Amino acid sequence: MSAVIKKVAGPLVVAQDMSGANMFDVVRVSDTRLIGEIIELHDELASIQVYEETGGLAPGMPVETTGVPLSVELGPGLLKSIYDGIQRPLEAIKQMSGGRLQRGIEAPSLDRQKKWRFVPSVKEGDVVTGGDIIGAVQETELVSHKIMIPPNMSGSVKSIAEGDYTVEETVGVIATESEETDITLLQKWPVRRERPVARKLNPTVPLVTGQRVIDALFPVAKGGTAAVPGPFGSGKTVVQHQLAKWADVDIVVYIGCGERGNEMTDVLLEFPELKDPKSGKSLMERTVLIANTSDMPVAAREASVYTGVTIAEYYRDMGYSVALMADSTSRWAEAMREMSGRLEEMPGEEGYPAYLGSRLAQFYERAGRVIAIGKDGREGALSIIGAVSPSGGDISEPVTQATLRIVKVFWSLDSQLAYARHFPAVNWLTSYSLYLSDMENWFNDNVKQDWMRKRARIMLLLQEESELDEIVRLVGIDALSPPDRLKLEAARSIREDFLHQDAFHEVDTYTSLEKQYAMMSLVLNFYEMAQNALDDGADMDALVSLPVREQIGRVKYLAGDELEPQLEAINRRLAAEIGEVKEKGGAN
Ligand code: ADP
Repeated sequence: MSAVIKKVAGPLVVAQDMSGANMFDVVRVSDTRLIGEIIELHDELASIQVYEETGGLAPGMPVETTGVPLSVELGPGLLKSIYDGIQRPLEAIKQMSGGRLQRGIEAPSLDRQKKWRFVPSVKEGDVVTGGDIIGAVQETELVSHKIMIPPNMSGSVKSIAEGDYTVEETVGVIATESEETDITLLQKWPVRRERPVARKLNPTVPLVTGQRVIDALFPVAKGGTAAVPGPFGSGKTVVQHQLAKWADVDIVVYIGCGERGNEMTDVLLEFPELKDPKSGKSLMERTVLIANTSDMPVAAREASVYTGVTIAEYYRDMGYSVALMADSTSRWAEAMREMSGRLEEMPGEEGYPAYLGSRLAQFYERAGRVIAIGKDGREGALSIIGAVSPSGGDISEPVTQATLRIVKVFWSLDSQLAYARHFPAVNWLTSYSLYLSDMENWFNDNVKQDWMRKRARIMLLLQEESELDEIVRLVGIDALSPPDRLKLEAARSIREDFLHQDAFHEVDTYTSLEKQYAMMSLVLNFYEMAQNALDDGADMDALVSLPVREQIGRVKYLAGDELEPQLEAINRRLAAEIGEVKEKGGAN
């Protein structure tokens, strides 16, 4: 008997007589051939998550399993692409269907006509195994796309030749004892299966972002995981753009699960406008965008997350540092909740399925700094940054809580800071990074030996400030001793002169680690020297109003070549001005 629809419930279709089908197979539903995935299978009854609008479907309509799991196409042409959740190129399908997305439409993920120049790096007779790089294609001006032997294959190169190829043409032949396999620029990979690696490395190297509050206070490791909540107007978009532009990565994969259609349109319009600051080229030259447009049902969000992470792993395998940004994982969780409800599963907290936490964990666990499979032992990294959107900013809700149990870094964007125009509005009291001890040696060895000590002093001052603020609120500023008032001044300087960073200022938008260290030192120097002077009887008010403090506040705007001489001058002036105040204090 052939398989037919038994029942339709929103994006969920139950089909009967599905003998021979497997869990997670892709199926085509009805004569319009809507795309879905089997997410539950009992006897010959399959529950299918359909990634397109299911309006018009009815019992009795045919269902056909393709026998293969949901997979992505991997090869040159991914970069600069904008895909929907099941890797259909948005531009192409919109053109084919005239504006609106037509259901069941099929378009190859990678262009079948385009020719790519392939330059081999192995020769006939070479022995190769899974993961070995056999050549490269210049995919965009910024990225050389390595062509790798698919995992689980090995043999010797029977033939290989430089030339112009489409993604389906044979660039070489690998011979094993029993058979010969054609190698093309295109590979497929099932999205729910993690791509293999030789081994994972410890997260000891930071993903440098040039954003001071991140690098200095709450750094994320290369291959690490971070979450950022995004109350409206708190600067989430700006943070994401800054990371895409400046983080020390070769490739960015951005998954947009916007709720309203226009949220996604913003990203689609904005991202291609962004420039890679290092090369001046469009950021799209090293970016893949995955967008859940408003004409796709929520179920597609689930697919988009897996599609994105698989593409990201593929570039990691080439030896690149990749950042995956998912915005927002809360929308994906809501889709899971809806599906779970339709499947009549036992609901967990706030109706989310009991497996919410494990699904999120499986996703974030695909991050890592790794040694790729293949003989050359190359290193790659996939860092995952997930945005969460707790409604009303209430981070005690299940999705945020489940996420916080998994990720190692939390940048807590705070609407109050944003309201006070303190950007980036990362709250230093509630944010954290669990990579600090792993990365301590890296910072100390690669920037300055006392980087972590300085960081600890800065954090302590900020914490003490919040305690003092509490006292001030209760009894007023006059109740504070001069040393405590000085402490408040030092903390203010940390906030305003160091943490506050203008994403739109040509120089301030990015700060090297060396400069970050210099800025931390300067602020702490002021505090230490002023403290000593205070001990020696200097006048508090005179210390906090030293003219040099204004100069300290402008260091962030100093570009590379002005920085060194200016720093020296400022330090000299600081010493001199403190000396003067001390003399006056002594005279009194
Ligand atoms: P969200 O996406 O959270 O709604 P946005 O990222 O659009 O918020 O930020 C809102 C506004 O805040 C921006 O238009 C910008 O004016 C300001 N802003 C946010 N971050 C920064 C920053 N790092 N530097 C300067 N301005 C910022």
